[in-house]
Amino acid sequence: MMIGIDLGTTNSLAACFRGGKAEIIPNRLGKRLTPSVVSVDEDGTVYVGETAKERGFLHPLQTARVFKRSMGTDKEFTLGGKKFRAEELSSLVLRSLKEDAEAYLGEEVTEAIISVPAYFNDLQRKATKRAGELAGLTVSRIINEPTAAAIAHGISEQGKDARYLVFDLGGGTFDVSILELYGPIMEVHAIAGDNFIGGEDFTELLATMYLEKAAIAPESLDIRTMNEVYKAAEACKCAFSQCSLITMSRTIDGHTHEMSLTLAEYEKACEPLLEKLRRPIERSLRDAGVKLDDIDQIVLVGGATRLPVVRRFVTRLFGRIPNMLVDPDEAVALGAALQCAMKARNEEIREVVLTDVCPYTLGTEVMVHNGLFDEDGHYLPIIERNTTIPVSRTQTVYTAHDNQTRVNVKVLQGESRMAYHNLLLGEISVPVPAAPKGKEAVDITYTYDVNALLEVEVRVHSTGVKRKIIIQNEQNRISEEEAAERLAKLQHLKQNPREEEPNRLQLLRGERLYEELPAKRAAIDRALMEFERTLATQDRTQIEQGRKALIKALDAIEFDL
Ligand code: AMP
Repeated sequence: MMIGIDLGTTNSLAACFRGGKAEIIPNRLGKRLTPSVVSVDEDGTVYVGETAKERGFLHPLQTARVFKRSMGTDKEFTLGGKKFRAEELSSLVLRSLKEDAEAYLGEEVTEAIISVPAYFNDLQRKATKRAGELAGLTVSRIINEPTAAAIAHGISEQGKDARYLVFDLGGGTFDVSILELYGPIMEVHAIAGDNFIGGEDFTELLATMYLEKAAIAPESLDIRTMNEVYKAAEACKCAFSQCSLITMSRTIDGHTHEMSLTLAEYEKACEPLLEKLRRPIERSLRDAGVKLDDIDQIVLVGGATRLPVVRRFVTRLFGRIPNMLVDPDEAVALGAALQCAMKARNEEIREVVLTDVCPYTLGTEVMVHNGLFDEDGHYLPIIERNTTIPVSRTQTVYTAHDNQTRVNVKVLQGESRMAYHNLLLGEISVPVPAAPKGKEAVDITYTYDVNALLEVEVRVHSTGVKRKIIIQNEQNRISEEEAAERLAKLQHLKQNPREEEPNRLQLLRGERLYEELPAKRAAIDRALMEFERTLATQDRTQIEQGRKALIKALDAIEFDL
């Protein structure tokens, strides 16, 4: 069985294609979203999702979140005395989703299509694929999130031809994509984005406003208190979806600090963040060569598009209300599941061929004459960003000095005018016959294939000598032994047993409330001890009932019911 997975910054979810339609797979707690959070305790037991998130309030140093932002980098997270890279933490989330899917579907899940932000570079994509493999999944395709979302919308619209702008604001990333569905083809025209803005920034803003009002320096707070403030800010931010006035109140060091804020005031404070969202939108329209009016559907994706501030911004900018047919949290996973069905050539679904673009400009370094003298270090783009792939382009360059005997070609990725600001992917050199400057010509051909592998060929006109390299981002590759070692390390981690997860979650929640609410400790203690006694009976029916009673008691305590 193959499933579609949206591996999100904040939440992840899985979907499958059954009975002629895509459906979301609930997790072990019966929820559709699994928080992308991993916690590891001292004895090496791993917690994933809601339980890990709950654990994180009391054990922030043993808990990792927002690790998708570090995908494809060497950054290590130390949890429970063990070190993990982002792809390993992601693999633990994927393993949890895989197990939930197997329990729900009653069959083994061996394959997956996993989505990534369109803006992910090659390293980040490869790390995502490895995360899937570490979780025991064959990753048959990596699909761009906006493409998946547009498929979910396009198919639900009965396949009418249309131009889509997908506005995807998740927890930590923002992507804008312009796609067109015509006949059996879904073509990506342009993608643009910012890997460093998302819903979390809107939460952080609220937390900063609160601390400023309370005249508390964030550095003076310990990590646990900071987490509590952040959690309260997150709840208030989400409350803005229902009401236009929020009150945020916490007791810090024995003092209660309160802040009331209207939606209009919050909106004003959000202006710099909203301004940051505008740039990628304008860039994608320009790159796709379309105007705002040419867009038929605006598709909202990502949890943060639930924020009224963001919805109003989109409505104002486009002069119309965005499409909300598919839940913004679920569109990507559903699209990935539809893609699974297409891949399996399921007859109940119309096949859509996807065409993609390269997200960055690829070029080389050259010397240019600036009117007065020759200047080194300029960037010569060869494949412009947002060119449909596969693509092959050639540029001719000439020798820069008299009697030069070699031409060095730097392979660069990026958008800057000066070469050194762009990322160096590799270098290739060819011999040329000694001759006066500008007499020897060299063709540089860049070929970018559907798997996003770049091949560079350099050919000297006069001699016909050729050199070729394939750029595969070697620096982040791991050896087979290292891969096996990592897999073994992950497999040795103990997992919190699936069936115990709902109980563990409530016990952790009780412990957190005990720390947070000194006035209610006696009641919390009683409720927890009662449930612990019930757990000791090992009687399933009694435990189920006991858990329900505990949830009721904790709800009453936490929400003052
Ligand atoms: P995603 O990465 O797509 O799961 O999006 C997660 C982001 O959506 C987080 O920053 C959440 O705070 C935000 N989010 C989820 N629900 C809401 C809501 N009702 N109102 C505002 N933001 C929300």
